[in-house]
Parts: sequence; structure tokens; C-alpha cells
Amino acid sequence: MTIAVRTLDDGAWISVNDSRQVSVSDVWTLSRGVFCDCEPAYVLLEGFFDVDVDGSVVAASTVGQCLECGTRDSIDRLPVGRMIDGKFSPYDPAGVQWLREPDAERDGESS
Ligand SMILES: [Zn+2]
Repeated sequence: MTIAVRTLDDGAWISVNDSRQVSVSDVWTLSRGVFCDCEPAYVLLEGFFDVDVDGSVVAASTVGQCLECGTRDSIDRLPVGRMIDGKFSPYDPAGVQWLREPDAERDGESS
């Protein structure tokens, strides 16, 4: 089954199967080192400029700014959600997102 993903409104939204799912106005919590030196980094996204599906994971390329230190940079392939049984399930922006491939999925890791 094909998953149709695209950006809308000049990158303000990510659309999955013709439904607006992810807004750019969220603050995403990123783990240290992948964006800046803050741990974690609270990054306000400014716009999505690309979105892609990697297996079942929907990943967006975006630009964001750290609310703590002010670092502004592009983020390559931020996982914003995944497809489960054909439906989009967004990740929680407040949860720490790993931009690099995790070796294994683990829960309960807190600082
Ligand atoms: Zn920072």
C-alpha cells in the first residue's frame, strides 16, 4: 500500500494520505549532540521542506532553532511518526527523538 506524504502550506504541515497530521509549530525534544550541545535540546521547528517514508517511519527534513542556546540549523530526516496498520501514528514531540538510527528500540531510558 502506497503512503502519500507531502508538505502543505509552505512547509507548515505534513500531510499523510491527504490528512494534515504534523504541525510545524511544535517544540521537539532532541537528544544531545544531534542538534546542539543542550541536553535535551528543545527545538522549535520553522518549516518542513521535505518528507519521506522510510519503511514504516515518516521522516521530515526541517529547519529548527534551539530555545536554549539559539542554535539554528537544518534537521535531516526527523522521525515524526510511523505507519501502524495503514494509519499514521505521530510521535510525541515531547519525547526525545533520536535522529540517528537506534541500534535497538529501548524504553525507560531516563538521563
Ligand atoms: Zn541548544
